[in-house]
Amino acid sequence: MGPGPASADPRVLRAMSAQLVGQYDPVMTAYMDETMALYRRVFRTRNEATVLVDGTSRAGIEAVLVSLLEPGDRVLVPVFGRFGHLLREIAERCGAEVHTIEAEWGTVFEPERVEEAVRRVRPKLLAVVQGDTSTTMNQPLADLGRIAREHDALLYADVTATLGGNEFAMDDWGVDAATAGLQKCLGGPSGSSPTSLSPRAVAVLDSRRSVEAGLRADPDAPAPRRRIASNYFDLGMVLDYWGPQRLNHHTEATTMLYGARECARILLAEGLEVAVARHRLHGEAMLAGVQGLGLAVFGDVAHKMANVVAVEIPDGVDGEGVRRALLADYGIEIGTSFGPLAGRVWRIGTMGHNARKDAVLLTLAALEQVLRAAGARVGAGGGTVAAQEVYAAHDARHDVAAPAGAVA
Ligand SMILES: *Cc1c(COP(=O)(O)O)cnc(C)c1O
Repeated sequence: MGPGPASADPRVLRAMSAQLVGQYDPVMTAYMDETMALYRRVFRTRNEATVLVDGTSRAGIEAVLVSLLEPGDRVLVPVFGRFGHLLREIAERCGAEVHTIEAEWGTVFEPERVEEAVRRVRPKLLAVVQGDTSTTMNQPLADLGRIAREHDALLYADVTATLGGNEFAMDDWGVDAATAGLQKCLGGPSGSSPTSLSPRAVAVLDSRRSVEAGLRADPDAPAPRRRIASNYFDLGMVLDYWGPQRLNHHTEATTMLYGARECARILLAEGLEVAVARHRLHGEAMLAGVQGLGLAVFGDVAHKMANVVAVEIPDGVDGEGVRRALLADYGIEIGTSFGPLAGRVWRIGTMGHNARKDAVLLTLAALEQVLRAAGARVGAGGGTVAAQEVYAAHDARHDVAAPAGAVA
């Protein structure tokens, strides 16, 4: 029940135990095509260039930034948590001229502030995190796409922590590049990064396309001057591999492909909107529950991601001791924090396969016991009762009969 990774859906684990096939086996290439189509629906895009980058979410981030950015290109990164700092660092390593604006941890940016900075910096790329798990904030993106377009910039969004559990509409919002991972709301393991690029982003790649030396008729021909600085993360080459040419690049990670495909199949069978509503419901129940235990919640709750809550560690309570006891005595993991929040908050997730009523209620019940043992003053049942009230209100709205014996 941490901020990710979380327990995987058992169906994903089963899919990943299937036998391997060769990388040009018709089953494999059909799965690749099917996975592209599935993730177009997950990202809500028509982008042909929708693929998996092999590696964790950070691999997708690196691939997009190194493929779009050349030394000296201007980038604007609005930073509101740890992962904004990561975008800045990776863009710097690409040799880009990186400009940042910062929002205090626990808040998000007003679009006007971003627009003012875009006007001033005139970036080639506006790179932003949607949900920064380090602060639990969910940056609204709908206006940023419009701003980027009006100022002739591309918009990249890291949607790792939000996709599948919070609204994301790639095409409607004008997002040119987006990358994710499986280990948050998609209910899979880390190790595959679904990535999508708009035609505008692909046009940048096209201007930098190259074919690997050993695959060319003339391996000794000079490399194109603007060649992408990484081979593994050269999205032009990755697209040539996933596209009809099937030009050999890396060996697609077969087992991760099975897992990523199954994550998307499960999500789309549930329905994107249904999954987002499920994350909202269990996120609200967890939020009410921790507040019902008398705990304070960090950050601007109005902009909180649905799938994670940051809980302030009460004075006098040993935060790490509580985490250890939850894991040792109840088998429940919750998260610690980074940077300015280290030692100040726990982060509790409700995502993917763990966005479930039983998981929420058991976590709250266990937390109550552990907190009391740690010397905190918590009301008996305060967490589970508050969460049950959220569920009862939801059931009443949706006309669901309460199970016998449920708390009214
Ligand atoms: C969890 C998370 C990541 C994780 O990256 P990995 O390489 O998969 O560890 C990246 N970005 C954001 C916003 C995250 O929340």
